Amino acid sequence: MEHKTIDRFRGCLYGQAIGDALGLGTEFMTDEDIAWKYPHGLQHYKQIYQDRHRKRWEIGDWTDDTDMMLCIADAVIEDKGVNFLNIAKHFKAWANGVPMGIGEHTYKVLMMGDYTEKPFEASHLIWEMSNCQSAANGGLMRTSVVGLFPKEVRTCAENICKLTHYDPRCVGSCVIVSELIHTLVYGIQTPTLFQIRSLAQLYDINICEYVDKAWIDSDVKNLVDYDHMGYTLVTLSVALWAYWHSTSFSDGLLAVVNAGGDADTNAAVACAVLGAKYGYSSIPTEYIEGLLDKETLDKTINSLLNICVK
Ligand SMILES: [Mg+2]
Repeated sequence: MEHKTIDRFRGCLYGQAIGDALGLGTEFMTDEDIAWKYPHGLQHYKQIYQDRHRKRWEIGDWTDDTDMMLCIADAVIEDKGVNFLNIAKHFKAWANGVPMGIGEHTYKVLMMGDYTEKPFEASHLIWEMSNCQSAANGGLMRTSVVGLFPKEVRTCAENICKLTHYDPRCVGSCVIVSELIHTLVYGIQTPTLFQIRSLAQLYDINICEYVDKAWIDSDVKNLVDYDHMGYTLVTLSVALWAYWHSTSFSDGLLAVVNAGGDADTNAAVACAVLGAKYGYSSIPTEYIEGLLDKETLDKTINSLLNICVK
């Protein structure tokens, strides 16, 4: 297998974990909060401000975003393939443990009594109970690994999203990011703006506005919407912004993290894309070595490589 593919494969999952771990430092913060807590910007895990929310994690630890990505990875490694029901089982087992940082919507779905038997029905029901309004970024935050699958990326991204997030805006977000990562990692022609818009329209026309914003706006701070933190289309636009506008892995990481909002998720998705674009070798060592549970990540990546990359 081509060395570059392996570098981008590894870079994608490291990017996810690093964005998540550093993004925790500004999660839920506005511009003013960030200016006050980090007068020179947040650059390193060690600077992470230890308030009540953040001190629940150790420095360099990732949050629910990467935990759930690893649930998908572990199920795929176990089955040497994709079995949606087993992925649901892994989600449920995680939720029954200590699911640090779990989102409200995800929690409601995973706590349904018959979730492991009928995950799609549970997810659909909770979405209906929100009057089909709930479109949180909980599906998108873990979808990076789906882009690494060797085939059927679109169907897998759709279904794995629907295991908890049924809204077409969530499903479309997952498909766009997973397909983008897949083309980057495997060295296939990457989608143009027009192609991403066409893909978006298959799911929900409202996605296009957020794709366009990401293309046009040069400042990511204009995309992070503090009033709609956790909205899947905000996170999608931040990830696409990073893909189109950053000049390196670190450049994108720091821009997204220092924009605040749902920063751990925004940066997890954005940096999975950047890791897939620039590769593991482009990531500064301090971010890699500073991760609390680097060993787990390495083990998972190596097992996945054996399954996905022949
Ligand atoms: Mg999180």
